[in-house]
Amino acid sequence: VWSSCLKIIKDIVEWQHFKTWFEPINPVELKGNVLMIQVPSQFFYEYLEEHYVNLLAKTLKRELGKEARLEYRIMVDSGNTNGRNGSMDVPASNMKTYNNNEMNFPLVIDNPVKNPFVIPGLKKMQIDPQLNHMYTFDSFVEGDSNRVARRAGKTVAEKPGANSFNPLVIYGGVGLGKTHLAQSIGNEVKRLHPGKVVLYVSSEKFINQFQDHSRNNAINDFIHFYQLIDVLIIDDVQFFSRAEKSQDAFFAIFNHLHQSGKQLVLTSDKPPKDLDGMQERLLSRFRWGLSADLQIPDYEMRIEILEKKMKNDGLDMPKEVVKYVAYNINTNVRELEGALISLLAQSSLNKKDIDVELAKKVLRNFVKTSSKEITIDAIQKMVCEYFDVSYDKLLQKTRKREIVQARQITMYLAKAFTKNSLKTIGEHFGGRDHTTVIHSCQTVKDLMDTDSIFRENVMELTQKVQLAAM
Ligand code: ADP
Ligand code: MG
Repeated sequence: VWSSCLKIIKDIVEWQHFKTWFEPINPVELKGNVLMIQVPSQFFYEYLEEHYVNLLAKTLKRELGKEARLEYRIMVDSGNTNGRNGSMDVPASNMKTYNNNEMNFPLVIDNPVKNPFVIPGLKKMQIDPQLNHMYTFDSFVEGDSNRVARRAGKTVAEKPGANSFNPLVIYGGVGLGKTHLAQSIGNEVKRLHPGKVVLYVSSEKFINQFQDHSRNNAINDFIHFYQLIDVLIIDDVQFFSRAEKSQDAFFAIFNHLHQSGKQLVLTSDKPPKDLDGMQERLLSRFRWGLSADLQIPDYEMRIEILEKKMKNDGLDMPKEVVKYVAYNINTNVRELEGALISLLAQSSLNKKDIDVELAKKVLRNFVKTSSKEITIDAIQKMVCEYFDVSYDKLLQKTRKREIVQARQITMYLAKAFTKNSLKTIGEHFGGRDHTTVIHSCQTVKDLMDTDSIFRENVMELTQKVQLAAM
C-alpha cells in the first residue's frame, strides 16, 4: 500500500522534497484500513502534517478506501521508538479531539507512551505549487504590449474560477513573458487565497507524468490528482500537439475542473487557432474563456523594463546606455535582459565603466541586435506595400478608412521602432503635427484591443519591421 502511495506522491512533490520528507518514512503495519508509518522525529511529523497531510490523506484513501486512517509513530532520538516522553513534545493546545470534517481523515499519533491523541488541522490538500517567487505582478511591467493579458491575469488571480476568463490563454512569442505572467497569477492566488490549491506545470512535465502513469496502468490516479486542484496553470500547451493520449487526459481534467468552477490558465507560443495537432474539442474549450496575447514591448516600455530590472538588482548605469540597449534590442524581453547581463559582466570583467562605447562593443557580439537603424521612410514603404497603397495616398488628406488606418499604423510603428520625436514623425506625413501622431498611436492601440483582423495586420507588420531592422 505504502509503495503505491509513494509512487503517486513522487510525481507530485518535487524530487528534493520527496527525498527529504518521504523516503525516510517507514511503513510499520497495516491493520484493516489503518496504516501506521514511522517518522524520524517530532519535527518531521509536524512538517508532514503541515505540508503534506492532505496529499497523504488523498493518496491513502485511494488505496484503502474512504475510511482510511494514518497513524504516526515518532522515533525519539536515534531510532529509539520507546523514547522517554514523546507526548510532551507536543504542546497541549494541540491535544484536541479530532472532529469529523469534510476530509474525514483523522491523523493519530501513536506516541511512545501509548497515549494516542488525535489532532485537528485537516486543511486543504497541500501540494507544492511549483512557483518561482521572483515572478510576480509587481515585477511584471505593464505596457501596451501586454496590458490586456496582465489585467486579465490579475482578475483571474483575484477571483479564480469566478470570472469569465476561464480558461485564460496567454500566448505570444518566446521571451515575451508568458511564464512570468502565468507564474505571477499563481503567486498572487497564493497570496490572496492561501487555502487554494495551485499547481504550475509545464506541458512537457504533464506529458511525462502522464506517460509514466500510463505505463503503470495508473491513468485514473493521474487524472484524479489533477482534479483536486483549484488553479491549474499549464505552461506551453503547444507541446500537447505531439501527445494525443495526454490530450485525452487533459480533456478529462479540463472538463472536471471547469465544471467545478476551478480556474485554468494556459500559455502557448501561438494563438489557439494555430495550434496544429490539438484536438478540436480542446480548442473549442479554449474559446470558452479569454485568449490574450503578449507582444514585443515598444522602445519606451523596453526602457522601463530595463530600469525595473536594474532597480530590483540594485544596479545602475547611465540613462543613455539604457536607451541604447533598449533601442537596439527589440526582439524580446529575454534578449533584453541578456544584453543587460552581458554588459554588466563585461564592465566588471574589464573594470570599465558602463558607457555607450562599451554597450556598442557588447551588443555587436550579441546575436540578435539590430544593426541597421530603421527609418520612417522605410516603415512607410513597408506599410504601403503591405496594404497596397501608394506613398502619395498615404500622405494625402483622404478620409478613406483603409488609408487612414494604414497611415495611423505607420505612425504607430514609427514611434515604436525609431527614435524620432513625435514632431519629426508628423513632419514625415505631409507636415502633420505631433498631436495627430499621438492620436494615431492611441487609435491603433484601441483598435488592436477590439478588432482582431486589424490587430493581426499590425502584428504582421511589426514582425516585418523587426526583421528589417536586424
Ligand atoms: P516566455 O515564457 O514567454 O518565453 P518568460 O516569461 O520566460 O517568457 O520571460 C522572459 C524574461 O523576460 C523573464 O526573465 C521575465 O521575467 C522577463 N519579462 C518578460 N516580460 C516582462 C515584463 N513585462 N516586465 C518585466 N520582465 C519581463
Ligand atoms: Mg516560458
